[in-house]
Amino acid sequence: MMPADLASMDMDELSALMAGLGEPKFRAGQVLSWLARGVRPEGMKNIPASLRKKLEEIPFGGAEIIEQKHSQKDETVKFLYELDDGNIVEGVLMTYSYGRTLCISSQVGCRMGCAFCASTLNGKVRDLTAGEMLSEVTAVERLIPTADGKKRTVTNIVMMGCGEPLDNYDNTIRFLRRATAADGLGISPRNISVSTCGLVPKIYSFIEDAPHITLCISLHAPNDELRRRTMPVANAYSLSELIPAAKHYADVTGRRVIFEYALIEGVNSSEEHACELAALLRGINCHVNLIPLNSVKERRLNGVSRKKAAEFAALLEKLHVSATVRRELGTDIDGACGQLRNKHIRSQEEEGV
Ligand code: SAH
Repeated sequence: MMPADLASMDMDELSALMAGLGEPKFRAGQVLSWLARGVRPEGMKNIPASLRKKLEEIPFGGAEIIEQKHSQKDETVKFLYELDDGNIVEGVLMTYSYGRTLCISSQVGCRMGCAFCASTLNGKVRDLTAGEMLSEVTAVERLIPTADGKKRTVTNIVMMGCGEPLDNYDNTIRFLRRATAADGLGISPRNISVSTCGLVPKIYSFIEDAPHITLCISLHAPNDELRRRTMPVANAYSLSELIPAAKHYADVTGRRVIFEYALIEGVNSSEEHACELAALLRGINCHVNLIPLNSVKERRLNGVSRKKAAEFAALLEKLHVSATVRRELGTDIDGACGQLRNKHIRSQEEEGV
């Protein structure tokens, strides 16, 4: 189906659009190369004014950076984006030795209801289009060009911002196709990760539709009883369904599935939990990413110390499960998902906006 916004379109769709507008076919390629840089119709310099005008009447699917927060501790930058309808989402740019990873949002808010997550506090407002997700990337590239002006600023993407990507399945798949296409963002699929709270049927579809993308699964507990306490999705899909889906990804793709596990003080971080987790994951080609929970002001859950997280990782390794503690970046700028957006919304409320 033809997308409603220009930024979501691919070559075939733009060609059809040009035909419908009575324009020559080669204009499609010109428009597409502007779109790969996130340029709106008014900035498309080699397009005649009459066509630019027609294109301006189509919704664009933009995301403009309205606020940046630079960490004083590392090179992390947090962005607030404004979508064309005024909704706000957020992203985080992290610098590593191998390049720069941008964490993007897939929905305005989220309806998954995880107890520790700031993104879901006010539920889901709406899905993002593929074009809006692409615009999150291109906005950062325009703001921070590379020194040589050629290679892309953003080398890696993680879908770990606001929202549940697999709850916005079609737009996410379209985004991934455009992000990896040579005439799109041209980013290697191996450099893109999608994180899900565990929508099992969608994981099976994802393995078919996007097998080269890295799959991350938010586990956060080694058994259903505990998982249901913090993740409502665990009521819909038990670990006896989720773990085989994860194993299927690893078996079909030959790549490791990543499990995310936020360590919460007094909840899921004891030695017994580590042993139970190791037993659960035995025999699966996987890696566990541990992160001490970022305390969210609105929630009464706290993270463990770095030392305790390292001990949990060491125990998993001893039990033959590959595990690392994720480097904490941008801790001084509300690095965890949904936190900056919530602060922004709160401050607007306080100002009576
Ligand atoms: N909806 C997707 C992706 C968004 S969240 C998912 O659930 O995977 C990205 C990751 O951050 C998830 O693993 C999520 O569980 C985790 N997360 C959410 N709030 C957190 C917090 N306060 N501290 C640490 N990790 C958190």
